[in-house]
Amino acid sequence: MTTIDPAAPVLVTGGSGYLASWIVRQLLEDGRTVRATVRDSHKPKGLEHLHALAEAHPGRLTLHRADLLDDGSFTEPMAGCELVVHTASPFIIGKVKDPEAQLVRPALEGTRTVLASVEATPSVKRVVLTSSVVAIYGDNVDLAGRERFTEDDWNTTSSVDHQPYPYSKTVAERLAWEMAGAQNRWDLVTINPGLILGPSLTTASASGSMTTMAHFVDLSMAAGAPQLTNSVVDVRDVARLHITAGDTPAAHGRYIAVAECVSMLEMGRMLRGAFGNRLSFPTRELPKALIKLAAPTAGLTRRFVERNVGYPIAFDNSRTVAELGMTFRPVEQSVVEHFQQMIDDGLAKGKRSA
Ligand code: NAP
Repeated sequence: MTTIDPAAPVLVTGGSGYLASWIVRQLLEDGRTVRATVRDSHKPKGLEHLHALAEAHPGRLTLHRADLLDDGSFTEPMAGCELVVHTASPFIIGKVKDPEAQLVRPALEGTRTVLASVEATPSVKRVVLTSSVVAIYGDNVDLAGRERFTEDDWNTTSSVDHQPYPYSKTVAERLAWEMAGAQNRWDLVTINPGLILGPSLTTASASGSMTTMAHFVDLSMAAGAPQLTNSVVDVRDVARLHITAGDTPAAHGRYIAVAECVSMLEMGRMLRGAFGNRLSFPTRELPKALIKLAAPTAGLTRRFVERNVGYPIAFDNSRTVAELGMTFRPVEQSVVEHFQQMIDDGLAKGKRSA
C-alpha cells in the first residue's frame, strides 16, 4: 500500500509530449503542483500550451530541463516529489534509420537514468511508468489460437531489427521491473496503453498517434486501407489512468489501457460519419498481397505486413476497470475529436457534417 500526499509536487517526464501534456493538465486541474521535464525549456515552439497552463495555475507548474541520455538530469527536479510519472520515450512509427540510437537507447537508458534519480531521491514512493501494449505482444499474429492478451503476457517476438519500437518498450519495462524489484522503498505501476488517440494540446508532437491520424488526411489510403487492427484508447482516459494509478494505494503491477480494437477501415467509417465523404477516408480494404508489394514505399517491412495484416487482436482490460474504476470513452469519440482538433489546428480541412 502506497499513499501519496496530494500536496507534494508530482514529477512528469517528457512533459511537453502528446500524452504527458494531458497528464500535466489534469493534475493541475485536480489542484496538484507539477514539475514537468522537457529537453529544451527555452525552445520557442512546442511549449506554448505548457506556458499557458502555468499562467492559468499560478505557482503550480514549473518546467525543468532533463534528457534521458543525461545521467542525473532528473534528480534536481525530483527532489521532494512522492510520485514520478515517467512518460518520456520516443514513439516513432515507420522508417527508422538507426533503431538502436533513435528508439532502444533512449527508452532503455532513459528508464535507467530516471530510476537512478528515483534511487537518489528519498521522497519518492511510487513511479508510474508509461509502457505500452507492445510490451505485451509484438505482432498481431502472436495472439494466434487465443482469445485476448492479458497483463501476464510479454512481447517475446520483437528485436532491434523487427519491430524496434515494441522492442524498445519491452526492454525498458523489463528493466523498470528489475530495478523496482531490487529495493523496497518505492513501488512501480505500469500503464500499458494501445494506440492513443483523441485531441492534442500541442501541434509539436511527432508521436506515432499523429502520424497514424495523418494517414486520414494525406491520400495514402485513397485506394484502400490495409486490413490492420489496432487497440485504441483515448488520450484523456490514459492520462486519468496514470493519475489514478499513482493515487490508488493498492495499485500494483501492469494495467492494460485499451478501450476497443478497431481496423483502419472502421476508423475511416467513423470519420466519414462525422465529416462526410472524402478521398482520404478509405472505403475498402486492399488485398494483403498488394500491401506486401507496396510495403517498402510506405515505410513498412514485408515481415511486418506478413505478421500483422489480416490478424485480429483483442485485450482483456478487466483488471484496469475493476481495480482502478476506469471507464473508457468509445473509440469513435476519440477518432472524431482527434480529427476535429486537426481541423482546428489547420492540419486538416473540413467541417463536421450536420
Ligand atoms: P510524444 O508526444 O512524442 O512524447 C514523447 C516524449 O518523450 C516527448 O516529450 C519527448 O520530448 C520525450 N523524449 C524523447 N526522447 C527524449 C530524450 N532523449 N530525453 C528526454 N525526453 C525525451 O509521444 P506520446 O505519444 O505522447 O508518447 C508518450 C509515451 O507514451 C511514450 O513512452 C510512448 O512510448 C507511450 N505510448 C504512446 C502511445 C501512443 O499511441 N501515443 C501508446 C502507448 C504508449 P521532446 O518534446 O523534447 O521531444
